[in-house]
Amino acid sequence: MTVHFPFQNTYAALPANFFARVAPTPVTSPRLIKLNRPLARQLGLDPDRLESPEGAEILAGKRVPDGADPIAMAYAGHQFGHFVPQLGDGRAILLGEVIDADGIRRDIQLKGSGPTPFSRRGDGRAALGPVLREYIVSEAMAVLGIPTTRSLAAVLTGESVLRETALPGAVLTRVASSHIRVGTFQYFAARRDTEGVRRLADHVIARHYPEVADSERPYLALLSAVIAQQANLVANWLLVGFIHGVMNTDNTSISGETIDYGPCAFMDHYNPKQVFSSIDEMGRYAYANQPRIAQWNLTRLAECLLPLISDDQDKAVTEAQAAIGEFVELFDTAYQAGLRRKLGLFTAREDDRVLAQDLLDAMARNRADFTVAFRRLGDAALGPDHDGEIRQLFADPTAYDEWAARWRQRLADEPQESIARRTAMRSVNPAFIPRNHRVEAVIEAAVNRDDFAPFEELLTVLSKPYEDQPAYSAYAEPPEPHERVLQTFCGT
Ligand code: AMP
Ligand code: MG
Repeated sequence: MTVHFPFQNTYAALPANFFARVAPTPVTSPRLIKLNRPLARQLGLDPDRLESPEGAEILAGKRVPDGADPIAMAYAGHQFGHFVPQLGDGRAILLGEVIDADGIRRDIQLKGSGPTPFSRRGDGRAALGPVLREYIVSEAMAVLGIPTTRSLAAVLTGESVLRETALPGAVLTRVASSHIRVGTFQYFAARRDTEGVRRLADHVIARHYPEVADSERPYLALLSAVIAQQANLVANWLLVGFIHGVMNTDNTSISGETIDYGPCAFMDHYNPKQVFSSIDEMGRYAYANQPRIAQWNLTRLAECLLPLISDDQDKAVTEAQAAIGEFVELFDTAYQAGLRRKLGLFTAREDDRVLAQDLLDAMARNRADFTVAFRRLGDAALGPDHDGEIRQLFADPTAYDEWAARWRQRLADEPQESIARRTAMRSVNPAFIPRNHRVEAVIEAAVNRDDFAPFEELLTVLSKPYEDQPAYSAYAEPPEPHERVLQTFCGT
């Protein structure tokens, strides 16, 4: 049973300094743990064939499928503010691109498939835990409607990887509209290779932003387009309580997808300063810092594009700065619109911003769970006699009562029926998110007991985040104090 991938390889057709040609390193005994069958079909791949032994060998990097042109992409990046001129795919290999059912070009990449010329001191491998985390969280983000890379498959390699201890090795098959990052531009800019920057920009325009090709100033328009995508993305993150954890420029996708799920996590109680990543000691990538960091990362992109924007560098700087300045309003517009939807508002008013912020502040002071509070607010839209469930989330429930009185005054100015409001709120305020303690429990069962039932169950629950699913109601609950998981690790 031959697995057929209708590969195209446009990135591998770019100049040789864009990547290193390298095949995955074969592993001993691949074992498929999960295939994303709907995604496979969306990509035009046959799920049954991918589940065959040959399919598992391909997804583990033991066998290179026909038509693939495996490469590791070159990129640089600012990591925690420090520039590293050469990073690159140290443990990921791009097999090729396919055109999906919607006509969109998508990369198929193996992550954890062995060393590449960019591995530096790393082993090129991935441990099972981080692979499962990425699978769970990326697929949850996709169902929540947030732009993201996807997970096509997870396989065990049958080999151990050495981290602090020996852990089961695994490979994730990642699907992205591309793996081009801000750091990819930085790679060429750092080498003063303006032609490289231009080739990359032209590739990106053709692939992701074809509408800017006809602009009078295509490279300035490209910058603005990426800024708009990132502003929208980070607003989406904040609206579901997502903390990326490593917003380095090499982890900032040019297409505006969430990429590189390392120590990411969703917050439980609302806390703007929340950090989970064990390596983020200064809180640089804390929840509420994310918009500012995205803007900082985009400024690094703008610097790379300056030579393309204008021959007159002073003019280019002025124009790029103006574009970067627009991030604040683009983010704010998307974020405020999302908050209004979360509050059940159908219309927009200037002081809605204050109303929303006051709820968030009350949640922060009273350690209310972010996701549960908004979910229950949908019920409270039916009237004050439905307040019981939400107010008890606040350490001091009167903080909610005071706010709710103002909220109801505002709602009274809108003609919609409360039942319609509740329905609208339930379609934007999920009941289920990949809570960190649940993700950790899944990883523990898989790594220590080879038990993947919790992984499957969590995926099932997260596939319908906006439905109540009474059989799984425990998954909607915040962790008990002893269940709380306060730190996440990159696992690299
Ligand atoms: P990340 O923190 O996953 O975004 O990775 C940052 C950089 O380190 C990228 O260039 C990765 O390819 C590289 N890297 C991370 N883990 C490994 C590993 N186990 N082996 C080789 N390179 C790695
Ligand atoms: Mg990365």
